[in-house]
Amino acid sequence: MARESRKSLLERTARIAAALARLYPEARISLDFRTPWECLAATILSAQCTDQRVNQVTPRLFAEVPDVRAMDAAPAGRLERLIVGAGFFRQKTRALKGAAHAILERFGGEVPSRMEDLVALPGVGRKTANVLLGHVFGQPGLVVDTHVRRLARRMGLTCEFDPDKIERDLQALLKSAEWTRFSMRLILHGRVICGARRPRCGACALAVDCPRIGVAGVSRAGSGAKKRKDGAANQRV
Ligand code: SF4
Repeated sequence: MARESRKSLLERTARIAAALARLYPEARISLDFRTPWECLAATILSAQCTDQRVNQVTPRLFAEVPDVRAMDAAPAGRLERLIVGAGFFRQKTRALKGAAHAILERFGGEVPSRMEDLVALPGVGRKTANVLLGHVFGQPGLVVDTHVRRLARRMGLTCEFDPDKIERDLQALLKSAEWTRFSMRLILHGRVICGARRPRCGACALAVDCPRIGVAGVSRAGSGAKKRKDGAANQRV
């Protein structure tokens, strides 16, 4: 395939972003939370777990362990029992308690709002930090999860595999004000149309601007009616 010019790539990305905005205007994360700490805790719990399962676990967790101080003080065994439904409960208990302790020690109990401070917390990587930036602190946060990674590569918006490099490539193609919503919309599109095993290119509104890199064949599964239904589907990711 001929190398695409920068101008063409920027124009194509803008068309993809506009199409995604029409499909998923209100896209946002589907984790339930009320405070910065709850958002951080829920995002830590969501690693290798569905948001739906996390949302089943967090009401009781947040009722019994309501804040950073309580999390720091809670016995590990009690926490493990509270979050067992989210999987990897020992590892996640360590991450939750480690993050709570660090927030108390270094930030007076307030979840920090800067990327460099967030990623310095135990159990917090750029993906989690970007969720916080975009959904709690009103700053641009481009979340690169497995869907964003897969779709950005298929769409030819990056040729990288490393999430940090993919984040950098996408940031360079978009205005910072678009970062959060664009990544949420890509995640939704990955769930409803561009699945890992069977991308439904025949039902995809982005097909005209997608080179489908790495996609073996074009699936014809899904009708126009199905596509409209998908587009109007749950806008939380
Ligand atoms: S055209 Fe196919 S590969 Fe490209 S975004 Fe749509 S479903 Fe995914």
